Amino acid sequence: MTAALLQVRNLGKSFGGVKAVDGISFDLAPGELLALIGPNGAGKSTTFNMVHGQLRPDQGSILLQGQELAGRSPRAIWRQGVGRTFQIAETFASLTAVENVQMALLSQDHLLFSMWRRAADHRRDDALALLDQVGMKRQADRPCNVLAYGDVKRVELAVAMANSPKLLLMDEPTAGMAPQERNNLMALTKELVLHQGMAVLFTEHSMDVVFAYADRMIVLARGRLIAEGQPSAIRDHPQVQEVYFGTGQTFEKAPA
Ligand code: ADP
Ligand code: MG
Repeated sequence: MTAALLQVRNLGKSFGGVKAVDGISFDLAPGELLALIGPNGAGKSTTFNMVHGQLRPDQGSILLQGQELAGRSPRAIWRQGVGRTFQIAETFASLTAVENVQMALLSQDHLLFSMWRRAADHRRDDALALLDQVGMKRQADRPCNVLAYGDVKRVELAVAMANSPKLLLMDEPTAGMAPQERNNLMALTKELVLHQGMAVLFTEHSMDVVFAYADRMIVLARGRLIAEGQPSAIRDHPQVQEVYFGTGQTFEKAPA
């Protein structure tokens, strides 16, 4: 087995009396796509927010290649090599695809946003290479607000890749996408993972996507990790079926 890239141990966070995340542990290997699933309120977002630094854990450890991330700032964690996909904010939607990636490269190079006007040529070739990786080079000079939704998602992926992350966090990457677009985006993500040896931790509502693309899954319910394993094993796991039963969220294949 490959040595873990990420080791999460006994991670916990409470809000008032609610244990949003209650002592969970898991590993993530380089080149692995790990899905984090569970019903609403299970603690998925809280877990994500602790890994990328938005929230400080009450307990536990988050080791990236042996370095402790728990309690560090989002910026420090990002510099350690943890990237995440962001929705391109409205203010940046009028910028072109390549400009959005250039902005991410500026940030990586510790240049300030206020320098942007003077830095319009900043690493354009590198930005184009990143867009090429996601199949968006030909549309590089189109403003994001005229691109198809699935194409914007590709640009967002290129933005997240600008920092060459070792670990990429994706919170519901395919939300709002049509089934075909979903498959394209996840196939692309899988390709990038294989190509770069990066690891991906993602949450996802579409069980079709999870079962088709996750190498492994972890399942949360009420802050606890109740199951872990290959998609085929999770599908038939009695406790997992039980927590989803009656929530309106199911493992059934969604009608096309
Ligand atoms: P999920 O992403 O799996 O839907 P969350 O991590 O958002 O779950 O939430 C887990 C639990 O923690 C829920 O009971 C939620 O109400 C609670 N919670 C999450 N964030 C906060 C917060 N900032 N303040 C208070 N309670 C929160
Ligand atoms: Mg959530």
